Amino acid sequence: MTAPRHPAGPDRLELSEAERTRILAKAAQFAPPPATLPDGRRDLVGLSRTELAAELAAIGEAPFRAKQLWHWIYHQGVTDFARMSSVARPLQEKLAERFVIGRPEVATVQASADETRKFLFRFRDGQTAETVYIPDPHEDRGAVCISSQVGCTLSCRFCHTGTQALVRNLGPAEIVGQFMAARDAYGEWPSPKGETPRLLSTIVLMGMGEPLYNYENVATAMKIVMDGEGIGLSRRRITLSTSGVVPMMDRAGAELAVNLAISLHAVRDELRDELVPLNRKYPIAELIAAARRYPGASNARRITFEYVMLRGLNDSPEDARELVSLIAGIPAKVNLIPFNPWPGSAYQTSTASAIDRFAAIVNEAGFAAPVRSPRGRDILAACGQLRTEDRRQIVR
Ligand code: SAH
Ligand code: SF4
Repeated sequence: MTAPRHPAGPDRLELSEAERTRILAKAAQFAPPPATLPDGRRDLVGLSRTELAAELAAIGEAPFRAKQLWHWIYHQGVTDFARMSSVARPLQEKLAERFVIGRPEVATVQASADETRKFLFRFRDGQTAETVYIPDPHEDRGAVCISSQVGCTLSCRFCHTGTQALVRNLGPAEIVGQFMAARDAYGEWPSPKGETPRLLSTIVLMGMGEPLYNYENVATAMKIVMDGEGIGLSRRRITLSTSGVVPMMDRAGAELAVNLAISLHAVRDELRDELVPLNRKYPIAELIAAARRYPGASNARRITFEYVMLRGLNDSPEDARELVSLIAGIPAKVNLIPFNPWPGSAYQTSTASAIDRFAAIVNEAGFAAPVRSPRGRDILAACGQLRTEDRRQIVR
């Protein structure tokens, strides 16, 4: 008998702690550039409330100013201190000398025939990442799909981003900035009082990169977005998608408790090892156990299992049956994503009848199994099609 690859029990817990430290150390290695401009002014976007208060205290301003600025920056969406009408002119000028309210630059915007819009944002050091706005076909609102990293350390075989090595992590200002700049483009400031804003009302962390390998920056950004005196999105309107970084799933659950989506894609370790190489570190049993531990899972707040449909590989009725037995008892839904091809990709999308058969089995077992209709495929904006130019020479 061979020893289990991943021992259970106390050893495993100690290993998780070490692993967590390693992940955080690695994130530091790919840190975003400092949030200070060449002229010495500091970008206020991306600071936590405490950090904002500290910046203001350092120039002799009282704590209430932080609350006031927070409202202007995140509720009103202003980028110019001169528009802050509740702030006296001398203070506006003092602030403008020391600070900016930044946005990533819109390098290009592409519109799909289905109204999906893809933004290529350029950050201060020249790095770029993509953000996609996906309007809901039935309602007057939509989701903003946000990137967390430039490139990705993981190389899932079916994913275009996975062919681009990790360049660096995005910082809180760059993560929240994608959402704010998208709102600028739709003229969505300020948010109507007490109501859900009309269009850009949902965030899915499903763009480029693995959000749980850039946890600290993602968490800071999501706390900013959820703050009720600013953008004020509820945690129910945010979904974080992970390929399965088990130790960080627990932390995200405890600290953020946003909706969780897990990129499962295969029900046997042998296949998942190949499709999602991270599975060799955190195999299916550990991933499912972490899903069961995730807080707040209830019928209203189900965990989403994402399952890319690859012809002849993972789409048999037997796969579907194994899937339902794996997730039995978890309040969950299964998002079936027809594989979106990209230049050079080696897979094919499952046939419509294979997808229907698969969905029917999952449905019969009591799990919703919507088939995600591809959005923005014509502009390479659909799931797994994002990739930007390599600009690694700039940071190395
Ligand atoms: N890194 C995170 C989030 C980004 S990917 C993760 O892997 O979960 C968002 C989703 O798109 C994931 O479920 C991913 O597996 C899926 N995906 C990647 N490439 C795809 C492709 N070519 N077709 C369909 N879905 C894809
Ligand atoms: Fe990275 Fe997610 Fe793509 Fe895998 S699917 S390579 S984790 S972005």
